[in-house]
Amino acid sequence: MKIFIVGGGIAGLSIAWRLAQAGAEVEVLERGIAGRGATWASAGMIAPGAELGAESSAMAAFAERARAAWPSFAADVEAASGMPVYYKECGCLLVAATAERAATLQAAACPDSGAVWLTREELLHREPLLDASLLGALQIATDAQVDNRALAEALRAAAMKAGARLRERCSVRSVLIDKGRVSGVIADDGVIAGDIVVLSGGAWMGLLEGMDADVVPPVQPVKGQMAACEPPPGTVLPQSLIWSESIYLVPRHNRLFIGATVENAGFDTSVTHEARDWLLDAAARVIPSLRSWRVAELWAGLRPRTPDHAPVLGTTSIDGLLVAGGQFRNGILFAPVVGETISRAILQNSMSPDLSAFDPKRFAKSA
Ligand SMILES: Cc1cc2nc3c(=O)[nH]c(=O)nc-3n(C[C@H](O)[C@H](O)[C@H](O)COP(=O)(O)OP(=O)(O)OC[C@H]3O[C@@H](n4cnc5c(N)ncnc54)[C@H](O)[C@@H]3O)c2cc1C
Repeated sequence: MKIFIVGGGIAGLSIAWRLAQAGAEVEVLERGIAGRGATWASAGMIAPGAELGAESSAMAAFAERARAAWPSFAADVEAASGMPVYYKECGCLLVAATAERAATLQAAACPDSGAVWLTREELLHREPLLDASLLGALQIATDAQVDNRALAEALRAAAMKAGARLRERCSVRSVLIDKGRVSGVIADDGVIAGDIVVLSGGAWMGLLEGMDADVVPPVQPVKGQMAACEPPPGTVLPQSLIWSESIYLVPRHNRLFIGATVENAGFDTSVTHEARDWLLDAAARVIPSLRSWRVAELWAGLRPRTPDHAPVLGTTSIDGLLVAGGQFRNGILFAPVVGETISRAILQNSMSPDLSAFDPKRFAKSA
C-alpha cells in the first residue's frame, strides 16, 4: 500500500513519521521546502490555557489531549532525530492592564488546574521587565512552547530515518480518482500512482484542481504577521509566555517573539510597516524597555481556518482520500494527536467517536 501525504508542514510530517514508524510505505510530496509554511511562521506555543481557557468544547478536549501528549512527543522526536526541539514548560501569564480584565482573569483562576492569580507585586517579582502599571496576571502553569522551526527539521529527520520518503519542489495539482477511489496524484511532472492520499496542504488545501467542494473541506488562509526583537546584552528575557489583550510575547533563545496580526488577506504573505508598528507598540505597553530593542526579524504566515474554526481530520467521501487540516491557530499544539489520529485511521481504519466534531464531511451540502 503506497501512501502519499500532500504537504510537508507539521501535520504532514507528523503523519508521515507515525506511518513510517509503523512500517508503512509513505512519501511526502511538498511543493516547496518541508516545514516552511505556517509551521515555520508560527510562534510555537503549546498553549491551550491561553488560547481556549476553560472552554468545554470538543476542541478544548482535543487540545488538552494534545498538550498532555507533548512531553513524550518532544522526547520521541528528539530521540528519533538526534536533534533538539527546545520543548519547554514555561507557563503563561495573561496580564491585566484594566480592572475589567483583571476581574475576568481572577474569576478564571482555578489553582487545582494550575491557573493562579498573581498580584502586581508577585508578577513584577517574577517578570521585572513588565510594565509596573499592570494590575496582575493569571498564571497558567501547564502552557508550554517548542521551537517550531527546529521541530520541523527534527520531524523531517525522524520521518526520513523511519523510512518515509520526501519529494520537495513537487507541487500536486490534483488527486486521481477512479470509480470513487483514489488511484494517485497528478503532480507538475506527471501522474504518480498510489493507494491512499492525505491532504495536509495547510491554507492551500482548497486549491487542488477539479476537487468537488463536498469532498475537500473549505479551508481559508488567515494571515499572521510577527516580529522578533533582541534586547541589549545583559537583559534577562521573561521566563513565561505573556499574553496581553491584543498580543502575545514568546521568549525563545535570545529573542522575544511578538505576535500576531489576524488578517483576511488571501494568500499574501508580505510584511507591512503598519503591522510592525502595531506589534511593537502593543508589546511596548507590556514591556516598556522594548522600544529600544533591535528588531531582528519580521515575517508572515497563513493559518488554515475552516468556517467553524475547528480542524478537519479523517476520511472523506472518496475511498482512500483523507484530510488533515484546518488547525488554524493551534497546529503546533495539535501535532502529536494529528499524527496519531491519521495514522490510526489509515492503518487500523479507526477514528475515535470523540473526533466526530472534526469530520471533514461536516461541510458537505448533504451533511
Ligand atoms: C503567525 C502565526 C503564529 C502561529 N502561532 C501558533 C502557535 O503559537 N501555536 C500553534 O499551535 N499554532 C500556531 N500557528 C498555527 C500553526 O502554525 C498552523 O496551524 C500549522 O502550522 C498548520 O500546519 P500544516 O502542516 O497544516 O500547514 P503548513 O505548515 O502551512 O504546511 C502545509 C504545506 O503544504 C504544502 N502544500 C500546499 N499545497 C500543496 C500542493 N498542492 N502540493 C504540495 N505541497 C503543498 C505547503 O507548501 C506547506 O509546506 C500560528 C500560525 C501563524 C501564521
